[in-house]
Amino acid sequence: MILRLRPSETANSILGIDYARLRTLGQQALLFDFDGTLARKGASCMPAVSLSLLAELAEMGFRIAILTNRRSTRTIANITVPIMYHARKPRRAGYLALLRELASDPAHCTMIGDRTLTDVLGGNRIGMYTIRVRQHPCECP
Ligand SMILES: [Mg+2]
Repeated sequence: MILRLRPSETANSILGIDYARLRTLGQQALLFDFDGTLARKGASCMPAVSLSLLAELAEMGFRIAILTNRRSTRTIANITVPIMYHARKPRRAGYLALLRELASDPAHCTMIGDRTLTDVLGGNRIGMYTIRVRQHPCECP
């Protein structure tokens, strides 16, 4: 159980991750949590800094999607990638459905999120590479 709660790595925020290294590790797809990861909790839209990062990562060749436990009654306005609401993390089904949509598999996909008991545990359960971020990018110095 303890191993399943341990992320493969930890970063200060999504801006502090070495994405080029993930490519060299064979990672093709990135699943992001939204609240507390790409934006502050409860945000109604994606901050510009996260939109630019996702565009940059797509240019690097990553397939990208968002997996959130947020209900679809609180949609996010300016989403540019596939998103699954009400994902019920850490249950496996949401991860696997999005991976199918991205035509990827757990061994080549990284889950990035701020919560151990949902994002990290769910990703680890299906054998994904997992990164826990301490804060969303708007709080970065
Ligand atoms: Mg979160």
